[in-house]
Amino acid sequence: MADTGRRRISILGSTGSIGVNTLDVVGQLGGRDAYDVVAITGNTNIALLAEQARSCGARIAVTAEESLYPALKDALSGSGVEAAAGQEALIEAASRDADWVMAAIVGTAGLAPTLAAAKRGADIALANKECLVSAGELFVRAVAEGGGRLIPVDSEHSAIFQSLEDDQHHAVERIVLTASGGPFRTWTRDQMANVTADIARAHPNWSMGLKISIGSASMFNKALEMIEAKHLFDMRPDQIEVIVHPQSIIHSMVGYTDGSVLAQLGCPDMRTAIGYALTYPNRPRLNVERLDFAKLARLDFEAPDEVRFPALRLARTALERGGVQGAVMNAAEEMTFHAFCAGRIGFLAMADVVEQVMDAMADHTAAVAMDDVFAADAEARRRADHVIAQKEMAA
Ligand code: NAD
Ligand code: MG
Repeated sequence: MADTGRRRISILGSTGSIGVNTLDVVGQLGGRDAYDVVAITGNTNIALLAEQARSCGARIAVTAEESLYPALKDALSGSGVEAAAGQEALIEAASRDADWVMAAIVGTAGLAPTLAAAKRGADIALANKECLVSAGELFVRAVAEGGGRLIPVDSEHSAIFQSLEDDQHHAVERIVLTASGGPFRTWTRDQMANVTADIARAHPNWSMGLKISIGSASMFNKALEMIEAKHLFDMRPDQIEVIVHPQSIIHSMVGYTDGSVLAQLGCPDMRTAIGYALTYPNRPRLNVERLDFAKLARLDFEAPDEVRFPALRLARTALERGGVQGAVMNAAEEMTFHAFCAGRIGFLAMADVVEQVMDAMADHTAAVAMDDVFAADAEARRRADHVIAQKEMAA
């Protein structure tokens, strides 16, 4: 059989920034000769989804958007690739028999399909930090119970994963997440007050999807990453530090009890973290730019400013409160992201809204089952919607 030995993989969110990079890495590592692509999924970009499915030989391509089924079916005609659409189809495709699943859908929309893949026992390469921020321990447990491994793809968490020594968890003192500081690193709050989404999305070092780019500008991305790190590496809140490092060369670090700090470095290119997650525990040979230290000359660091970037302070609050507070922060943040992009609220209002929702729901902490997470998520969205509408009227 031609299929013997090919690794079965699926890519949830194949049409996004991480998804496209994942297919690039798969192509570099042997493409169809080495990988049997079970499922790929997208949302509204049907032309790209169909083109990807044809070229990687996916068995099924799914659009989350039910109404786009005819367009997808049409675009795939004659290819032999199955077409499907809608939420249920997405979850069904995610739970097909892949050994490795890239979770790269953006936002909370990624939670249900990623959980489905985890429960079936696939190794989960996790780019979608939102599902870990929101469902925390419950998500980690679902992956463990399924029997697959949880391998971080977020560059900081991949760096920490790579810098953690086997069996030395007890000797880890702290983890240090690096942050580029985003496009407004040196801006005052007054300067940030009137920026549009187009200005905020221009990241200095990384080319990424819209949500994470806006999150880098507000540092909400780093805030979500602090919570992601807690759950991935089982850290106490006081063990999680953030340092601004504008060049994005050190992707993050682990500090040990002997004073040693181990770090992972590289050019800012997500394909390194994706390749590591795909071939773990081995390292692939990748055609990515190599670091030239002489050209680089220097690496800079500065303390993060929690007054200009309140997101970091809010993440600490969520970490200390625990339970579903991650779900509350995540849901409120997602709502403010959409409201900011739609021009309904200003850049600085995003943190105000999230803080108001978190404070109103401060006593919501129990996270016993997934339903607690879904309930907290829904209530946080309702409350955020209300606060956003109030701000809009006041403006
Ligand atoms: P993106 O916006 O470029 O792509 C998102 C993908 O999700 C697309 O395939 C899109 O079709 C799909 N999608 C969007 N809405 C959907 C919905 N409602 N239902 C189903 N699918 C939907 O985003 P991205 O930058 O690739 O980021 C993906 C995830 O990876 C995010 O969670 C992000 O935080 C994380 N991440 C991204 C980067 C990066 O460099 N881009 C780095 C680290 C982590
Ligand atoms: Mg990151």
